[in-house]
Amino acid sequence: MALLQISEPGQSQAPHQRRLAVGIDLGTTNSLVASVISGSASVLKDENGEWTIPSVVHYTESSSPVIGAVAQEQAASDPHNTIRSAKRLMGKGVSDVESSWLFDHYNFDLDSGSLPAFKTAAGNKTAIDVSAAVLSALRSTAEQTLGGDLVGAVITVPAYFDDAQRQATKDAAALSGIHVLRLLNEPTAAAVAYGLDSGTDGVVAIYDLGGGTFDISLLKMQRGVFEVLATAGNTELGGDDIDNVVAEWLLKKAKVDAPSDPGAGRLLLRLARSLKEQLSNASTVAYSEKIHDVQYDGSLSIEEFNALVEPMIKKTLAPCRQVLRDAGVSKDDVQAVVMVGGSTRVPMVREKIGEFFNQPVLTDIDPDQVVAIGAAIQADVLAGNKPDSDLLLLDVIPLSLGLETMGGLVEKIVPRNTTIPIARAQEFTTYKDGQTAMALHVVQGERELVDDCRSLARFELRDIPARTAGACRIQVLFQVDADGLLTVSALEKESGVVASIDVKPSYGLSDGEIEAMLRASMEHASDDVHKRALAEQKVEGARVVEAITSALQSDGDQHLSDSERVAVDGLVDALKLTLEQDNTDAIKQAIEKLEHGSSAFVERRMNASVKQLMAGQELEDLERTLVTSNDVTENNS
Ligand code: ADP
Ligand code: MG
Repeated sequence: MALLQISEPGQSQAPHQRRLAVGIDLGTTNSLVASVISGSASVLKDENGEWTIPSVVHYTESSSPVIGAVAQEQAASDPHNTIRSAKRLMGKGVSDVESSWLFDHYNFDLDSGSLPAFKTAAGNKTAIDVSAAVLSALRSTAEQTLGGDLVGAVITVPAYFDDAQRQATKDAAALSGIHVLRLLNEPTAAAVAYGLDSGTDGVVAIYDLGGGTFDISLLKMQRGVFEVLATAGNTELGGDDIDNVVAEWLLKKAKVDAPSDPGAGRLLLRLARSLKEQLSNASTVAYSEKIHDVQYDGSLSIEEFNALVEPMIKKTLAPCRQVLRDAGVSKDDVQAVVMVGGSTRVPMVREKIGEFFNQPVLTDIDPDQVVAIGAAIQADVLAGNKPDSDLLLLDVIPLSLGLETMGGLVEKIVPRNTTIPIARAQEFTTYKDGQTAMALHVVQGERELVDDCRSLARFELRDIPARTAGACRIQVLFQVDADGLLTVSALEKESGVVASIDVKPSYGLSDGEIEAMLRASMEHASDDVHKRALAEQKVEGARVVEAITSALQSDGDQHLSDSERVAVDGLVDALKLTLEQDNTDAIKQAIEKLEHGSSAFVERRMNASVKQLMAGQELEDLERTLVTSNDVTENNS
């Protein structure tokens, strides 16, 4: 049990001073911050009384950046300096920017090293800088409201975010002076807000329709662990599309063409958005507005509106079917469907998704707030404010992590679906006599051969003491932290030399790719077993050739007659030949023949070493000889 705290004389009366922690939903369109106050989680309001701020930053030459609604106002008049949707670029590289129209209206610096940067009046700004600015605004809202410094925050990220995107989010937090207690998947946070983690084990669906993105996730809750079974979605589908269809409808009603002036276009979209939002609580809305000489008058009924949005809602059903298929569960297995994101306020969305899953959807918690609230609950626990709580959410790693071994084989160190954080160690050894460095290649995937897995990182352990092959003990430690970031370290035990690497692959995998890799591993399972057996046999064969050849070189003349030597040499050559072919059995037989044919030689060497020992030879040398001999004879059984 945690120790109880006692306050200093004259300090706070509260016996348990709460540690201030918040949950942050860092959204593509909007961001918000929440905290647990007096036992319940609520979203914090900024100085203007707003509980959500647009994730928009306006940069100027002279002053510090402006964030939120005020920045949003500048989007039409000063588009290049007003950065929106930076989340889409987190952890992405130059080629992602070049291939996406989403960033067309910005000026980019794409030459400066690895990270693409927006060119603004205040200089080059990466997506990390922009996100850091949004996080800073949320941090000051939190510190003002809560009246103190934050110990940390739980920040949510989409379930499909890869290591690079997660790392970028952490970097942004660090820049804004926020200590990250943990990154939490957005759908998991929503499930936590509804307390679905403490209910019965089962599958829950999280349907998240935001401003410009749609995500559907299936989570499985089991023994306190949320596993993301599958995610799918559409990165270019959301409330903005509804605004567009309503704006088109307004133009048609007014019998005018789309305005060529971007300012007028924006005002029209704003009108459309306002009608859309009113229609989540009304059956019809009237409008009368003049936009750049055009008068828009009329009313929009919920029936007309529904007809406009229905095609878009239908588009979200295909990913819903896909996650069910990918996870191998039926609609009846889904025990709850949670609505997340501002666009799920549209009544027809709720209705159609409820119909699809054959059950009423959960909407009790404001869909705009639900992610931040779940994050706040988790932050409260992680900050140590609920010592009795068993709500410690764990995630699992989606693909096995391993190391390349001789023959291009993969040794899995952390199997897939292991709950994180985790630390796993395994010992490895050298392959050659006198080897003083070791190349470590970290891979990800389920397949047996390195070539079929994904390469994550390479590093080297140097200055290993030169010993006989197999004599060194190198401990390799894989650590995956709570956010899924991997650190691999290697330690040579005798000398204490260490090397390590943090794995932040520049491009991660989408969930679809993970699925594809898993599927491939199942399809190739038996094929892989054969390939592995062949590769292992080749490694073994090469090792035997190496050991015998080095023994022959050192004292072959002493122990073998000329004809015996010719025979052994012949067997070595025969084995070498089979190593060039892909025939597991042939290699095996050639190894056996060589071992049989050289047994007399090995025996004589052994006897000679024993004699040398009696003659007072140094122990270490003897060990070396014995190890070498053992190496050769080891496989006799
Ligand atoms: P993100 O997660 O991408 O930051 P949000 O979850 O904040 O996005 O959703 C923003 C979207 O929700 C916008 O398109 C906004 O117009 C829409 N929205 C907000 N309130 C309503 C409402 N009452 N009815 C319909 N759409 C709404
Ligand atoms: Mg969101």
